[in-house]
Amino acid sequence: MASTIQALPKEVVYLITAGEVIDSFASVVKELVENSLDAGATRIVVSIWPEQWRIRVADNGCGMNLDDLQQAATAHSTSKIRSSADLWKINSLGFRGEALHSLTNLADLEILSRPVGGKLGWRVLYGYGGEVLEVDVTAIAPGTVVTVSNLFGNCSSRRQGLPTTAQQMKAVQATIHQIALCHPGVTWQICQNDRQWFTISRAATTGQLLPQILPQVRQGDLQEVKLEVPNPVNSEDRIQQSTVNSQQSAIHLVVGLPDRCHRHRPDWVRVAINGRMVKSAELEQTILSAFHKTLPRDRYPICFLHLAISPDQINWNRNPAKTEIYLNEITYWQEQIIVGINQALRISDANLKETVHTTRVSKLLKAAEAKGGYNFNPQNSNDDEKIPDSSLSTPNFLKAVAQVSNTYIVAEHPGGMWLVEQHIAHERVLYEQLCDNWQLISVEPPIILYQLSPAQVLQLQRIGLDIEPFGEQLWAVRNLPAMLQQREDCAQAILELSLGGDLQTAQVAVACRSAIRNGTPMNLQEMQTLLDNWQRTRNPRTCPHGRPIYLSLEESALARFFRRNWVIGKSHGI
Ligand code: ADP
Ligand code: MG
Repeated sequence: MASTIQALPKEVVYLITAGEVIDSFASVVKELVENSLDAGATRIVVSIWPEQWRIRVADNGCGMNLDDLQQAATAHSTSKIRSSADLWKINSLGFRGEALHSLTNLADLEILSRPVGGKLGWRVLYGYGGEVLEVDVTAIAPGTVVTVSNLFGNCSSRRQGLPTTAQQMKAVQATIHQIALCHPGVTWQICQNDRQWFTISRAATTGQLLPQILPQVRQGDLQEVKLEVPNPVNSEDRIQQSTVNSQQSAIHLVVGLPDRCHRHRPDWVRVAINGRMVKSAELEQTILSAFHKTLPRDRYPICFLHLAISPDQINWNRNPAKTEIYLNEITYWQEQIIVGINQALRISDANLKETVHTTRVSKLLKAAEAKGGYNFNPQNSNDDEKIPDSSLSTPNFLKAVAQVSNTYIVAEHPGGMWLVEQHIAHERVLYEQLCDNWQLISVEPPIILYQLSPAQVLQLQRIGLDIEPFGEQLWAVRNLPAMLQQREDCAQAILELSLGGDLQTAQVAVACRSAIRNGTPMNLQEMQTLLDNWQRTRNPRTCPHGRPIYLSLEESALARFFRRNWVIGKSHGI
C-alpha cells in the first residue's frame, strides 16, 4: 500500500497559521488523542508517567502502514488535506501535519502501528526533525500506540515554566473530559503511573455521557435537543470559496433544566463545533441570554452546545490551537441556538415522555398493565398514539384537578401529576407577557408621588415613565405599565419600580405584584386557564427569580413508591 501521508505543498504551508502547540502534558495528550479520533478509534487508552515525562496513547483506529509511519513525523506531513481548497473542507481534528513533527523536536517519539487488515505491525523510532532511526516488525493489534518520552528533555526552561504536576494532571483530565463530551461514542481508559486513574464509558449521546463527568448531575436533570438546520444563505464574498452547499447542519444541545441544576460559575456553558471544544464568547453569551431570568441570582446554567456545521462555513485557521474559530453568519446560528434552548426548556408532551417512559419501572409497569387489564386514567391511556408534539404548538396536556391550601394546583397529565405553585406560575406568565409587550398607557388624573430622590426620578424615566415635578416634593406620573392600571396599589408599585434595576428587573417586579397571591381560592376553570397559559411559556420551569414552579410526581416514581411492580399473586404468598 502506498503512503497516504504527504508533505503539504509550500503554498498551503504558508496559509496555515504557524504555531507551536505543544507546551504541556495536556497539549500532548490533546494532539495524540485527536489523531486517534481522526483515525476512527472507539477505544482510547491514555497512560501518563509524569515523573518520567512520558505519555502513551493507544487506540484501535485505522493504523498506519510502514510507508505512512516513515512519513508521519516529517514537517507538514498529513493524510488529512492535500491542497488549499481542502482548508474549506476540514472534517478532521488535525490538518496541519505539525504535531508529530514538533514532538520529535521536543521529546523522544516512538510509534507502533498496524493498519486494519494489515498482517504486520511496525515499530518506528524517530529522531530530531522526524528522521526515522529504527524500524522493526512488532506484534500489535490493529491500531496505533504512540509513546512520547523525555518530554522537554532538551529544553529545561520549558519544564521549569510549567505548573505543579497536580495542576498539570488536572489540566490533562479536563482536556480528556472536553474531548470525550464531543465524542460520546468512545470508551476511555486513563492511567497514571501504571494505575487506573479514571475511565469514561461510551454512551449513545453526550447527555447520557455527561453524568460520568459531572456526577452531581443526573440523567433526569438534563434535556437533549437535536435540531437539523439548513445552512445560512451565503453572503456574496463567500460564494467564491464555497463548494456545494446543500448540506444540512445540526445543533445538538444538552441543557441542564433550570429547576434542577445550576452552577455558581459559568464553567459549564460550553461550545463545541464539529467535534472540537471551542471558545466563543458570542455563542456563550447567546446561551446565557437564553437562560436569562430562569435561574437564581448569580447562578449559571449547564449547557453543552455542539454545532455540526458543514466545513465550508468555518475557518479553523485562526489560531494554532484551533480553539478560536471564525464562523460565518454568526447571528443566524445564534437565532437557531435560542430556538433549540427554548425547545429544551419548554414543557411539552414530547419532553415529558422522554423522562417518564424510559425508566425501567415504567416498562415493567406497562408489561404488568398489559396482562392485568389495569388502566391508569383511561381518557389519557392512549397517549402513545398521540401525534408527536411539534415545537410550534404545545398541546395542553395538563388538567387542573384540585387546589390545595389555596396555593398549589394539582395538575394531572398522562405521565403522572404535578403540584404547581399558583403565584409563581402566574408570575412567569405575566413576566413573559411583559417582556413581549411592555405597554405603557396614560392615566388621568396622574398618580402623585412624594419625596422622590433624583435617582428615583431618573430610574422611572429610564423605564419609560412620563414623570414631572408637580410642586414642592411632589411628582406627577402620567403613564404606567398597562398591567398595573387597575390596581389600587399602583402608587406603591411605581415606588417599587423607582428603586432601581433595569427594565427587566422592573418587569419582574410588575409581574410579581400583579400575579395571583398564594392563599387565593381558585375555581377549576381559573386554574385550568392558568395551567394552559403557563405551559405555553418559554421558560415554564422556574419563575423569573429562579424558583422552581412545579413539583412533579411522575407516574414511574409513584409506581416505584407503591411497589406496583410486585406481582400481585406472589405478594399474597400464593
Ligand atoms: P495532522 O493530525 O495535522 O495530520 P500529525 O502530525 O498529528 O498531523 O499526524 C500526522 C499524520 O500521521 C496524520 O495525518 C495521520 O495520517 C497519521 N497519524 C497520526 N496519529 C495517528 C493514529 N493514532 N492513527 C493513525 N494515523 C495517525
Ligand atoms: Mg494531529
